[in-house]
Amino acid sequence: MAFYSEDVIDEVKSANDIVDVISKYVNLKRHGTTFFGNCPFHKEKTASFAVTPEKQIFHCFGCGVGGNVISFIQKIENLSFRESVEFLAEKAKITLPADDKYTTEEGREELKIKEYHKSQMFAINKEAGKFFHQNIYNSKFAQDYLKQRKLNIATIRKFGIGFALDDNSLFKYLKSKGFKEDDMLATGLVGKSDRGNLYDKFKNRLMFPIFDIRGRVVAFGGRAIGSHEELKEKHIPKYVNSPENLIYTKGRHLYGLNIAKTSEKLKKILVVEGYMDVVTPHSYGVSNVVASLGTALTENQGKLLRQYTDEVILSYDSDQAGQNAIMRGIDILQSLGVTCKVLQMEDAKDPDEYVLKYGRRKIFKAYRQQYYSCWI
Ligand SMILES: [Zn+2]
Repeated sequence: MAFYSEDVIDEVKSANDIVDVISKYVNLKRHGTTFFGNCPFHKEKTASFAVTPEKQIFHCFGCGVGGNVISFIQKIENLSFRESVEFLAEKAKITLPADDKYTTEEGREELKIKEYHKSQMFAINKEAGKFFHQNIYNSKFAQDYLKQRKLNIATIRKFGIGFALDDNSLFKYLKSKGFKEDDMLATGLVGKSDRGNLYDKFKNRLMFPIFDIRGRVVAFGGRAIGSHEELKEKHIPKYVNSPENLIYTKGRHLYGLNIAKTSEKLKKILVVEGYMDVVTPHSYGVSNVVASLGTALTENQGKLLRQYTDEVILSYDSDQAGQNAIMRGIDILQSLGVTCKVLQMEDAKDPDEYVLKYGRRKIFKAYRQQYYSCWI
């Protein structure tokens, strides 16, 4: 009997959006936040079979059957739980741990160790996030910079924005908390020199924790302090991000979604490019904004968006890269059946600058007037 960990099952579930999967069997139509269709498990003429993407569940008001994506596959394909997990994993091209491996005592032990390391990495990221955030209150340098960017303290707190000092204080702090070297290295927050000394990898940077929708810190983005020209001259990269690792895969998360998902205006989501394009509008009361981080929206991110909204407004930088990213984003969203619009910012290179220049009123007005439907 194969054994799959909660984590593996979670991964399979999140890679298989329920609307996506059920649509292959049932003709679904959207009404508000729910999809309806004729129940495949009992004979009916009216659509009483409901699928709720936000909760990733289905329920039939006619015959009472319900569950998640795995139980749907169990029923419709007449498979066992294990077979359904394998069926969905194959669909999403996820490699499951070898069947025989986890049937043995050693295999299970190995899996347990891996899960333990993951939990340590989450714990390290959480502690690091708190540490970076605390630095803001102790660094006049960081405070001045944030003031200059017109970020208020409420927004800084809400996003857990922090500051990485120009020393090895994070490593020392994490060590004092009893974390193991290997786990610290695995998060990418700490590096190791040729002589075997450990050091902070993020230095003198504004730190943006990236949360998953469950509110765990999966990674960090660090923005160098200083103007574009200064950084270029000193050959300092403007942004440095956590590497991919056991708990972080690029293109699987949307920056700010953990906060935006509680927004009342969530009928529409504005998708922007970078951290500041999310944070600045937030501090002006525009809360339904998330960032794709990286140039273009990925299919995984599109699916994530579809769980929360049926209308996405794309607003990327006005340069060529940004415009190309919009075209790719449109393709992905359309293929997922999400209505997609484009917000053009006049006289600003990105939403961050736009909000700083024109304030909150104007951005709402821009939403209403300037976007055009990409269906045209
Ligand atoms: Zn039914």
